[in-house]
Amino acid sequence: MVSPVVPSSGALAPLGLPDVRLLPGFWGSQPTQTIIDHCYTWMERVGWIGNFTGEPRRGREFSDSEVYKLMEAMAWAGDPRIEELTRVVAAAQEADGYLNTKWPGARYTDLEWGHELYCYGHLIQAGIARKRTHGEDELWDVVRRAADHVCATFMEGTGVCGHPEIEMALVELYRETGAERYLEMARRFVERRGLPALADIEFGRAYYQDDLPVRRAEVFRGHAVRALYLACGVVDLAVETGDKELLETVERQWERTVARRTYLTGGMGSRHSGEAFGDDYELPPDRAYNETCAGVASVMLAHRLLLATGDPRYADLAERTLYNVVAAGPALDGKSFFYANPLQVRVPGEKVEGVSPRAEGGLRAPWREVSCCPTNLARTFASLPAYLATADERGIQIQHITPSVIGYDGLRVRLSTGYPWSGAVTLTVEEAPAEPRRITVRIPGWAGGGVHEWERSWQPGEEVRLDVPMAPRWVRADPRVDAVRGCVAVERGPLVYCAESPGDAPLLSQIEVSTATPPVERGPSLEVAARHVVAEDDGWPYGEARTEQGEPMVLWLVPYHRWGNRGPATMRVWLPEAR
Ligand SMILES: [Zn+2]
Repeated sequence: MVSPVVPSSGALAPLGLPDVRLLPGFWGSQPTQTIIDHCYTWMERVGWIGNFTGEPRRGREFSDSEVYKLMEAMAWAGDPRIEELTRVVAAAQEADGYLNTKWPGARYTDLEWGHELYCYGHLIQAGIARKRTHGEDELWDVVRRAADHVCATFMEGTGVCGHPEIEMALVELYRETGAERYLEMARRFVERRGLPALADIEFGRAYYQDDLPVRRAEVFRGHAVRALYLACGVVDLAVETGDKELLETVERQWERTVARRTYLTGGMGSRHSGEAFGDDYELPPDRAYNETCAGVASVMLAHRLLLATGDPRYADLAERTLYNVVAAGPALDGKSFFYANPLQVRVPGEKVEGVSPRAEGGLRAPWREVSCCPTNLARTFASLPAYLATADERGIQIQHITPSVIGYDGLRVRLSTGYPWSGAVTLTVEEAPAEPRRITVRIPGWAGGGVHEWERSWQPGEEVRLDVPMAPRWVRADPRVDAVRGCVAVERGPLVYCAESPGDAPLLSQIEVSTATPPVERGPSLEVAARHVVAEDDGWPYGEARTEQGEPMVLWLVPYHRWGNRGPATMRVWLPEAR
C-alpha cells in the first residue's frame, strides 16, 4: 500500500497514492513540485546538504531532518533527485549505522536537545516512502542499518529523544518489515517517557512530554509538534499491539485538546514560549503560535485515529486544519511560508528576502533558520491523496470532497466538484464490479455531520449527486475562550475567513461588525456590514465607556488561507460584534 500509514488492523483501511488521484482543484493544484524545488535550492544554499559531504557544518542541530523530509516528499512525488540525495546521505553513515552530521564523536551526549533519534525518525519515514513508491534501494539499506543501530544502542537503558518522532517511524518500519524489534523499540521509547527519562529544563519536562507517563496524561501539553508526533506514535503502537486502553487514552487526550486547546482554524499551540499548548481555553488570537508543523502533525494524528476508529469527527478536524493551517502555510506561488499562524496580526509584517531568524513576523518567508515547515508541507502535499479516502470490506469512504478519481477493489469513481467554493458534488462510476459496493461520503460537521451512502450494483457511467450547504455562517466562541468573547468570526464551507487590510485600509482594531444581515458572497470573498469605531489619543487608554460609533462601512473578508499574499497587511479572524 502506497501510503505513509498502513496499520495492520483498524476500522478503516487506508487508500494509497495510486488508488486516489487528485485532479485540478483546491488540493490537486497546490504547488507541490515548486515547494520541493524551493526546499532543495535553499538547502543547497544554506549548506544543510553539504553537511553530509564534509563541508563545515551549518544549520541547527536538527537540520539533517529537513534533508530527510525533502527526500520523503521526493519519494511520494516521484522526483528522481532522491537518488543523488541518497548517495550523499549514505556516504555519511558510519560503519555501525550511526548517521548524524552534528554529533560525530559526541554521539548521544545530549538526548534532551541533540535530535539524533528525531532525525532517524524522518530518515526512516523517507526510506519507507521510497520503498512503498519504488522498492528497496540504497536508501532502504541506510534506513535498516540506522534502525538496527538504534535498537542495538537503546533497547536497554532509559534513553528517549527530546523530540518525539522516531516512535511512529519505528512502528511503520515494523509494519513494512515484520521485524518485531522495531515495534518493541517504539514501545520502550513510549513507555519510558515521563518516568521521567530526560533532564528538567527551563520550559519544564512537559515541554517534551516527560512530565507524566503517556498513559496518565489527560490532555496534550508542552511543545505542540512534539506532543502531536508522540501521540501519532502512541496510536500506531496501540494499534499494532492491540492495546485498546492505550488507544482510548489518546482519544481522550485528543477530545479534551480539541474542546479546549484548539483554534477555530484547527491550529494548535497558543504559547510562543516553548512553542507550546496553553492552558485550557487559553486561545488568544494575536498571540496564537499555531506552528504550521503542528497543523501537519494534527492532520497526521487525526488520520491515524480515523483509521483506527472509523469516527468521522477525526476527518472533520483534519479537514478544518488542512484548509486553514496547512493550506495557509505556503504563499500562492509556493516560494515563501508561514511558521506561526496567528488569528490576528496588528502590525504589517516586513518582507524578508533571505533567511529569517524568526518564526513570527506577519509575512511568509522564503526560508528560516528553523525551516521545518516548508519540508513538512512538501511531504504532506506530495502524499495528500493517501489522506483523502479510506476503504472497508463494503466499499470506499470519501473522507474529503475534492476533485479526484478513486479506485479500489474493482470500483472506480470520479468526483467532480468546485468544493470548497461550491457544494455541488457529482460522483461518476467509471468502473464497477458485478457485486454491490457501498460509496460513502463524509458530510462535515458544519453541514450537519454524518455520512451520505449509496449501496448497489453499479453500472459504469452511473452518477449520483449531493449538495453540501455552503452559505456563510457567523461563529462565536465558547465564553471560556475569553480572549475573543464579544467577537464573531465567519466560516463558509470548510474555510475560516478573515479581514485583511493591506496598505491604507482602515485599522482593523477600530471596526465592529453587524450580524443583523448575513455575509454577502463576492466570489471567494465575502462582504459584511461594519462600522468604524472612533478612538482618541489622550494619554491614558482607560476610563468610562468611551466607544463612539463612526461611519458605517463594508468590510471585505478573504479566506484565511489566502491572507498575506498581497503584501504587508494587518489581519484578524475574530471581529468585535456591534450590539
Ligand atoms: Zn515547523
